[in-house]
Amino acid sequence: PVILGIESSCDETSASVCVDGQILSNVIANQTIHEAYGGVVPELASRVHQQNIVPAVQQALLNAKVNKNDIDAVAFTRGPGLLGSLLVGVSFAKAFALAQKLPLIDINHMQAHILAHFIGDHKPVFPFLCLTVSGGHTQIVLVKDYFDMEVIGQTIDDAAGEAMDKTSKILGLPYPGGPLIDKYARLGNADAYKFPEPQIPGLDFSFSGLKTSILYFIRDNVAKNPDFISENLPDICASVEKRIVTILLNKLQKAAEANGIKQIALAGGVSANTGLRLGLQALCMEKGWESFIPKMEYCTDNAAMIAIAGHYKYLNGDFAGQEIAPLARMIF
Ligand code: ATP
Ligand code: MG
Ligand code: FE
Repeated sequence: PVILGIESSCDETSASVCVDGQILSNVIANQTIHEAYGGVVPELASRVHQQNIVPAVQQALLNAKVNKNDIDAVAFTRGPGLLGSLLVGVSFAKAFALAQKLPLIDINHMQAHILAHFIGDHKPVFPFLCLTVSGGHTQIVLVKDYFDMEVIGQTIDDAAGEAMDKTSKILGLPYPGGPLIDKYARLGNADAYKFPEPQIPGLDFSFSGLKTSILYFIRDNVAKNPDFISENLPDICASVEKRIVTILLNKLQKAAEANGIKQIALAGGVSANTGLRLGLQALCMEKGWESFIPKMEYCTDNAAMIAIAGHYKYLNGDFAGQEIAPLARMIF
């Protein structure tokens, strides 16, 4: 089938064309307008989605060399995400489907992050574990089938991406800070500073204590030396990144051992992080496990993951009606 995928859950407007499980285009319009605000401003995000959605779809069709009359179904992100942002993608998908007389396929954004692993040749085999780490989520997911997934561990407060972004805000870096922490971390000593590892039972995570300890650490050092941040930025970023990565990988290892699973995947925006990618590879090498790490363009929000998820739902004959509405909060 030829699937048009639409993603608009946060601040990326994206469109993708998937033909028989092959991604032929993946157009992502990033919104730069939020940089000055230290986070995504929902009201602005929906307005920019409204401007970008039609050009993004046109470009995706052009890049894929697919005519709109050849499309078999429209897959869109139903949630979770910002409601105003979701409404733009959902409304576009409905209007397009109505005009072209096509079926609709609703997709859960967090499942789609995981299903991005079914783009390309190196596909995991069920059941596998996926650590989904993004701006809004930190989950260990037991993936039993394309749409049969169980969250076996999750954050009780902040997400890992939020920890990255809040740290960068404390350091005076622009939003989103994750990529900048990654960039500076490569130049620093990860053992320069020690941040505490939270003691949370089971497979759950917590990042709010870490954020507070980073805040106090910076405040105390800046009180002694006003140039502390600029003089030590690489070491600070490397040390923070190392702590976030060890928190994530320790729980992931525990989950793998508890479930006897040897195939481990990463998903979500934070899976673009160099330290996490290298750390998972090293862990899997040591344990004899197989790691699955998405290509960079499929880590952060993109419509290719929506289109590939739509492909599998199409094969299941699982469609949505025109009455469907977005859900800001949505579980599996
Ligand atoms: P969700 O998927 O939970 O709805 P989201 O869509 O905002 O949230 P993504 O686009 O999947 O999240 O991921 C964005 C997050 O990834 C941000 O917190 C960003 O800082 C982080 N991030 C992106 N690249 C990197 C990197 N190289 N290192 C660390 N963090 C990164
Ligand atoms: Mg984003
Ligand atoms: Fe996302």
